[in-house]
Amino acid sequence: MNGHDWLSELTVGHVNALTPYESARRLFAGSGADSKQVWLNANESPFAGEYEVDSSVFNRYPDCQPDTVIKSYAKYSGLESSQTLVTRGADEGIELIIRAFCEAGRDSILICPPTYGMYAISAQTFNVGVERSLLNDDFTLNVRDIIQYVGKVKAVFICSPNNPTGTSVSKEDIVSVLEAFKDQALVVVDEAYIEFDIEQTRSDLLAQYDNLVILRTLSKAFGLAGLRCGFTLASPDIIQTLLKVIAPYPIPAPVAQIASKALASDGITKMQKDVLILKNELVTLRAELSELGDIQVVGDINANFVLFKTPRKSELMAFLVENKMLIRDQSKQIKLDNCLRISIGSPEQNKQLLALIKAFYALGSK
Ligand SMILES: *Cc1c(COP(=O)(O)O)cnc(C)c1O
Repeated sequence: MNGHDWLSELTVGHVNALTPYESARRLFAGSGADSKQVWLNANESPFAGEYEVDSSVFNRYPDCQPDTVIKSYAKYSGLESSQTLVTRGADEGIELIIRAFCEAGRDSILICPPTYGMYAISAQTFNVGVERSLLNDDFTLNVRDIIQYVGKVKAVFICSPNNPTGTSVSKEDIVSVLEAFKDQALVVVDEAYIEFDIEQTRSDLLAQYDNLVILRTLSKAFGLAGLRCGFTLASPDIIQTLLKVIAPYPIPAPVAQIASKALASDGITKMQKDVLILKNELVTLRAELSELGDIQVVGDINANFVLFKTPRKSELMAFLVENKMLIRDQSKQIKLDNCLRISIGSPEQNKQLLALIKAFYALGSK
């Protein structure tokens, strides 16, 4: 097939230039049938819950914004229902913000790399520009640099705790950015990992700043990545604007039923127990890794993954994959040369991983 066939002629210009997102799952697609594989590459929870669904309502279209889900999440986050939107994962929240607030071919967003990849990908999909303000070397925000983009971007995406560095952004820095972009642009704080550092949520700032948007998800601490359920928290006016561009039935009925159960008090208690186990595992794994060979741990402990650096990252990665242990290469990201990321698994999985890494360094020293 040549590059000028009828289909690429027909395809929208900027879409021709895109490549599909290399999700952790897609990178190892086709190898998924192997039950011995250990997946520590997508920051998923190792703990699945048990849920039953009531199929008697499946002949009907679901509500656009299922009431029990909205009410439970509003209660969980200490906000009003009018400040809460439920979406097909936090990823859909990112997309809705870009579609509702950025004009294709004209507007831009600002991202702060190294960070989560979907902000840029979502923007590029809609032909929206992407400006970059790099994090400082200690992964704090470069607030003075960010502020130079006032008037040049429609939304600033800040990830806290940040994927893949595990660092949280200080309240002072978020407030400075909110103040600078007041009446100018949205400041979107992605709190996908906030349950691992709940004290640092900026949801309290919604009362003061009507340009603040917070993204949340059930995919990480709640252990429901397969459910595809996320939340956008913002002023009622922003939520109403996002409702103009959301699909009529974005939340399938079984998803709403399961999300409601996950957000009932039993579900929240289970999640909090899981978080404690994972945080303990994370601190232990980080300490043990830092003792090994040429490994240097990087970033902070505020999420469910460990980032580390080794000059032998390619060999280590290949060795782990060969031994059916899948982690994620982050070394192509700016400021993350030679970095790999491990999502915290179950205590057994983490032991297995550590044993393999030790074996790798034992081989290398012979
Ligand atoms: C995983 C992740 C998301 C996506 O969450 P979904 O609800 O599964 O779409 C959003 N932001 C960050 C930073 C993430 O790591």
